[in-house]
Amino acid sequence: MALISLDRMKEIMDVPATAETLLNKSEKEIKFSLNLKMLRDEIICFDAFVVYHNVVLGPAKGGIRFSPNASLDETRNLAEIMTYKNALMGLPFGGGKSGIRFDPYRVDDFTRIAIIKEYVHMIREELNAGSYIPAPDMGSTPQDMATVYGETHKPESVTGKPVIIGGLPGRLQATGRGVSCATRLGVEKIIGKPLKDTRVTVQGFGNVARWTAYFLHRMGAKIIAIEDIGGAIYDGSGINVEALLSYCPTSRDTVKGFRGAEDISLDEFLSLETDVFIPAALENVITAGTAPKIRAKMVVEGANDPTTEEGEKCLLEKGIPLLPDFFANSGGVIASYIEWRNAKSGNQTSEEEVFEMIDKKIESSFHAAVQAKKERKCRSFREAFSSLALGSLIEAMRARLWI
Ligand code: NAD
Repeated sequence: MALISLDRMKEIMDVPATAETLLNKSEKEIKFSLNLKMLRDEIICFDAFVVYHNVVLGPAKGGIRFSPNASLDETRNLAEIMTYKNALMGLPFGGGKSGIRFDPYRVDDFTRIAIIKEYVHMIREELNAGSYIPAPDMGSTPQDMATVYGETHKPESVTGKPVIIGGLPGRLQATGRGVSCATRLGVEKIIGKPLKDTRVTVQGFGNVARWTAYFLHRMGAKIIAIEDIGGAIYDGSGINVEALLSYCPTSRDTVKGFRGAEDISLDEFLSLETDVFIPAALENVITAGTAPKIRAKMVVEGANDPTTEEGEKCLLEKGIPLLPDFFANSGGVIASYIEWRNAKSGNQTSEEEVFEMIDKKIESSFHAAVQAKKERKCRSFREAFSSLALGSLIEAMRARLWI
């Protein structure tokens, strides 16, 4: 439930019916099949999806998800989240997303490259026109973006590329950088304690989770538990995240078995007493079933859509505030914007400047949401952030005479 329903938003702000009509559906949805002729007369087919939710602010921007569960519904939902994320951060992008249904951990490099090349071939008009600009998402990597670039030959057609071929220093860490900044603000301004006395549990140790844990660890927080697809580990005195990064160099590796911590069960992980819980792996983790077990003082959504509506209701009833995905994990698209701008202009930006821009945007959006929450009497931070993003979308639709 990444987003608040427009019916609820109408109770806290003015939402013209025309804007509601436009925001309640995607502008464009493409469903296609990637058909690969393999050796020995075999053909394998993969379903693929591209969705533009709303492009009033600019071209559709959002990552490519590689997952055996990718679907049109999921891609549509993720594209809508991108519309609000880009609007909230003041980026000149609309909301887009794509998904390819396959298990990236079960194909060899040859097949993976063939899938991506066929994907580019099938949506070449969109990519060449710059109307959809992909980036990495769950299951896809900078190397995959390099393959996209290798087909389009246009550096601005894709972001999240390796630094050596026009990628941005800091892009790899950018989403985690933003989540860690959002967490620091939440700890200091909402929970009201210094970060160095803070215990954090993180779900996932992929791109978003590992850099979130890394930055929080460097800021002095204690990362007491981490869980990924292979298992969960715990150390009450704080896991040495740098050592864990060497133990698990890629998103495919599991934290299980790391010598510097003890292995724990998924149930134990979810019900640990902690200050901040950061789900940074997959959807629908905090549900009516799991929320009652959570004993955190705050939740920060690193993943897209990790909390269901019932899950959030339960957290709020327990007095646990939540910083929503389209705010907390926006560091990646902020960095993507810088990479895209540099690709068009030839400018170069250092890692420090990238992190500074992410921190600034996250901070100003956080302070604006704190104020909006008070003024608009919002029930949650999700409502407050939604009202800011929605306000920008409505203003842009008016400016373009769409409404
Ligand atoms: P990734 O593929 O790099 O890592 C995924 C992680 O999830 C891995 O550690 C994996 O072990 C773990 N995982 C998978 N299934 C699990 C399960 N059942 N239980 C526990 N852990 C499980 O993915 P990512 O890029 O880090 O993306 C994670 C989330 O963050 C997604 O929701 C994605 O949409 C969102 N996101 C990613 C970016 C980005 O820049 N990569 C930006 C914004 C949002």
